Amino acid sequence: MAGALIRMATHPRSPATGLKGSRCSGCLVAVYPADDACPRCGGPADPAALSGAGTLWTWTVQRYAPKSPPYQAPPGGFEPFAVGYVELKEGVRVAAVLDVDDLDAVRIGMPLMVTAGRGVPRARPATLGEEGS
Ligand SMILES: [Zn+2]
Repeated sequence: MAGALIRMATHPRSPATGLKGSRCSGCLVAVYPADDACPRCGGPADPAALSGAGTLWTWTVQRYAPKSPPYQAPPGGFEPFAVGYVELKEGVRVAAVLDVDDLDAVRIGMPLMVTAGRGVPRARPATLGEEGS
């Protein structure tokens, strides 16, 4: 089971989340974004595709428009949005914009699926079957 998990997480072309991280070949810690060196032990790290599946670690609401550029307001103008850290099942925390319909429904620990987009990664509530643990 553990072997299968590592093989899946380190295959450079799987899965389709587009989250390109790395994994230390020594202590196996996962890193995002990808880095050539391990932040824990300083050893070499290899490219690794991350699953994107995780849970919300902490979050807040951005209530005013960020500096532009790089921020680009959507066509309808700025709306408050949630941002947070998602702890992936690989153990690494990824900062992401939370694509949720209702800010009042956001809860620490909720299952999320993170994908890489242009700029900041995006997280949306995980559907059944995506909540790999
Ligand atoms: Zn390491």
